[in-house]
Amino acid sequence: MDAANSNHEALDAAARVPSAEDLDTLSRQLNRPVRDVVEIGARCVCGNPLVATTAPRLSSGIPFPTTYYLTHPVITSAVSRLEAAGLMNQMNEELGHDESLAKAYEQAHLEYLAVRDAIGERSGTGAVPEISGVSAGGMPTRVKCLHVLVGHSLAAGPGINPLGDRALEDINQWWTKDKCYCAGAWDIEGPAPSQDRSRHVKTQAVDPAIKQAERAAARAAREVAARAETDTEK
Ligand SMILES: [Zn+2]
Repeated sequence: MDAANSNHEALDAAARVPSAEDLDTLSRQLNRPVRDVVEIGARCVCGNPLVATTAPRLSSGIPFPTTYYLTHPVITSAVSRLEAAGLMNQMNEELGHDESLAKAYEQAHLEYLAVRDAIGERSGTGAVPEISGVSAGGMPTRVKCLHVLVGHSLAAGPGINPLGDRALEDINQWWTKDKCYCAGAWDIEGPAPSQDRSRHVKTQAVDPAIKQAERAAARAAREVAARAETDTEK
């Protein structure tokens, strides 16, 4: 498979376009206003968003490695249960001795990078060299955030991220893709959250891998800027 030329995306171009209603639903699902969402990565059978797609560079200019963000509360809490039960440790151990799994997981990492580049192109972000080769969730060799892997599996469709696919199978007592679990899953009364409370909401954004990647990207950006300054002074 040539990762560079075959982007796997579950939704077609028209279905990926976020409507005003989608953005409202995302804010309600996350209980905070959403920012920099450029597409919808996956949808419920009823049409509601399951995964928000963020461009590889935020409107503030900050490079952003985590493209797919799981937003549906029923899925996020089910995946949190798997994390709490120690599934990530089990997967990391398996990656250490199952060579074919490790290979498939590395391929998922390459797919992630390729589709992120394509999303960067489509959204006008263009190339983001600061995060080149940096994906998310612990890929390509570790599992550090199952939410990231499940978001990838939902957005890519089955057969791309082996560990995200497995986590989706493991939550099938709480969520399956053939049924709508939206009723009562978030508050639909009153206005959507408009005040930014994101700093106080614990979500997969606090994944240490993401934080680390953001710090590395910021460091790289500072170095590039410093180098450019030195060059112009010459
Ligand atoms: Zn639904």
